[in-house]
Amino acid sequence: MENKTVNILMVDDRVENLLALEAVLTSPDYRLVSATSGEEALRYVLKMDFAVILLDVQMPGIDGFETAQLIRAREKSKEIPIIFITALSQTKEHVSNGYQVGAIDYLFKPFPPLVLKSKVAEFVNIFKAKRQIHEQNKLINKSNAELKAAYTRLQKSEALSRAITETSIDSLFTVAEDGTIQSVNPASYQMFGYSKEEFLQMELQAILPLFGTSSLESVKQGTILESTAKRHDGSEFPIDLQITSIRVDKDKFFIISIRDITERKYQYIQLERLVQQRTEELLISNQKLQKEIEEKNKMMRTVRESKQVYKSLFQYHPDAVYSFDLEGNYISLNQGLTQLTGRGSDELLNRHFIDLIDGKDRDKTMEYFRLAVSGEPQNYEIDICHKEGHIVHVNVTNIPIIVDNQVIGVYGIAKDISLQNKLWQELAESEDKYRQLVEESPEAIIVQQLDSQICSFINKTGLNLLGIENSDAILGKSLESFVHPSEYNVLLEKMEALKEGLEATSFDSKFVTQHQDVVDVQVKCIPFVYRGVPSIHIVVRDITELKQSREFIKQSEKLTVVGELAAGIAHEIRNPLTSLRGFTQLLEFQMDTNVEYVPIMISEIDRINTIVSELLLLAKPNQVDFQQIEILHIIENIITLMKAQANLHGVDIELQRQEIQYYYIYGLENKLKQVFINLLKNAIEAMPNGGNIVIRLEQLNSQIKISIIDQGGGIPTEFLDKVGQPFFTTKDTGTGLGMMVCQSIIDSHQGTMCIHSELGKGTTVEIVFGGC
Ligand code: ADP
Ligand code: MG
Repeated sequence: MENKTVNILMVDDRVENLLALEAVLTSPDYRLVSATSGEEALRYVLKMDFAVILLDVQMPGIDGFETAQLIRAREKSKEIPIIFITALSQTKEHVSNGYQVGAIDYLFKPFPPLVLKSKVAEFVNIFKAKRQIHEQNKLINKSNAELKAAYTRLQKSEALSRAITETSIDSLFTVAEDGTIQSVNPASYQMFGYSKEEFLQMELQAILPLFGTSSLESVKQGTILESTAKRHDGSEFPIDLQITSIRVDKDKFFIISIRDITERKYQYIQLERLVQQRTEELLISNQKLQKEIEEKNKMMRTVRESKQVYKSLFQYHPDAVYSFDLEGNYISLNQGLTQLTGRGSDELLNRHFIDLIDGKDRDKTMEYFRLAVSGEPQNYEIDICHKEGHIVHVNVTNIPIIVDNQVIGVYGIAKDISLQNKLWQELAESEDKYRQLVEESPEAIIVQQLDSQICSFINKTGLNLLGIENSDAILGKSLESFVHPSEYNVLLEKMEALKEGLEATSFDSKFVTQHQDVVDVQVKCIPFVYRGVPSIHIVVRDITELKQSREFIKQSEKLTVVGELAAGIAHEIRNPLTSLRGFTQLLEFQMDTNVEYVPIMISEIDRINTIVSELLLLAKPNQVDFQQIEILHIIENIITLMKAQANLHGVDIELQRQEIQYYYIYGLENKLKQVFINLLKNAIEAMPNGGNIVIRLEQLNSQIKISIIDQGGGIPTEFLDKVGQPFFTTKDTGTGLGMMVCQSIIDSHQGTMCIHSELGKGTTVEIVFGGC
């Protein structure tokens, strides 16, 4: 007990009494507290703990009894012994009253000091003893609580260690000093294949062959060792081993924890393998890197080389190569430019290019340059002035020099294209000529693709031959519809033969025009490549005329025979005519003759005679040589010959001539007659409803002009060219040969023939001979 003094409360309303009490009780063991009223006493009781209270009964305010009652009512102070000190009465009621309210003792004034002193001392002793018991109680309670807490902790840690032991995946053994196994956890059964009972009869060495008891001692506590353990079946496996020794009382035990590290070892091996693999990979990638570096070095070398190459390329390039700054001043240039311009590099470097450009091209060149500076490459043609004064036509390419997305200048290449242009022109011309040749070829030329068999080209003659106006009707299509069905297979066979490399031959075939006319043709197929496509060049020649002329020759041979026959017949007719005329003349002098008839008969006989002699003349073989011929005479004869036919058609023939006596020309009589017969025949045929034909004979200087003028239907302009072509006829029974024969005869007489015709009015054929 640290504070040995005890508190004693003295309550009296009279201070002298308090002083007296104090004088009696003064002691180093006591702290005396005085209160002069019940209220004050109560206040002290609330604040302090007292060993005893000396209480005056009679006091103003709360008296002693009431004060004692209040003190007793309070739990904390109800045990404090109270001694009433009173001077009042010693009556029984009074005293019992005092005891009722809790007095322990009574003292009556005047009291002997010693009694008071010893009474108080007694109460103080009781108080002290009580206080000591209280303190001890407190101590006992405290150690009880501590014990309880320790016990709870112990229980907890025991449960925990049991849980750890039971659930541990490691094997845990308790082993005695002699090596026998004392306890074992469930994990061990599985790890080693022994039952609990078997374990408890075994020594540790059975499962840890490397460890004897002595070596357990030598193992450092708590460290983990790697070792090998042995299962029931004799197999061994790697383990982690931890040994802790404990002492229980005097006995020493070892707690041994064993962990199966097979898996970990495996993982480790795997890891090692992985590391090795990774290392190899790293090695490979390292090699790759090495290779890349080598390649990069190689590339750098190549770049250096190409830089060198570029430099030489720049310097020795045959074209002019140069660069400009953004204003257009030369910064670098090669020999090409000095040659092109005729100026030295000192005359060009740092100068503006515009001075070189021909005046007319300056504006547009500046514009091109501006565009190149704005980032767009340019290509254009201009004229530049050579130092020696002549103009050079060049093709220029300007390329912006772009560094970090910014144009810092312009590269240029200029090429002299004067010669090139000339060559191009010549090439174009020769191509033109060739094209014209093909286009204008008198033979039809069709190009057909070998595989697809569609036509890719046709010339004008081809279009005419096939009667097509527009080449679209055949280009891109097959030729099949234009070949006679009976001939198409032959054409295909020939093409197949070409494909197989056989030689091209020409063959006769038949084509069909757009208007379904059949044309006799000769075809030749030649293989060649047209616009990159293997094709066949088909040359087609119209042989209709050839065939017809062959026919004509045959015909004229027949005519010659007929003519010879006619000559004989005419001769035979002339003889009897001669006697007929003679006798008719004689008849004139006969008496009974109707004299008017005789001249008629004679003139008619003369007429027959003339016609027959003409026939004879015509039929005569062509052996007579050229001689002087009086043309008027011939014309008069012909008129006589044709008159009968003219009359038949209601046509009159009139001869108009100047008063010149003779019109001589040099020629063949019967040929010239044939000309006039043919012309008169045409004129008569042109006037089916009758009309007039005028034959006009004129002398112009030394020339003789004969015009045959009819009033027929005329010739349509589109036919004018064709008249005179063999076999051109508009008549159902016509031969189309008459005009051709005329033309050829006139030609052989060095004459000319021309036709003027007006539709609906008539035709005039004019023949002019040179005369002689
Ligand atoms: P053919 O008389 O057998 O038809 P030609 O060569 O004599 O052959 O004449 C050719 C064509 O010229 C005639 O079919 C006709 O259309 C035209 N022709 C020739 N002369 C005349 C003419 N005087 N008047 C009108 N047409 C003519
Ligand atoms: Mg005719």
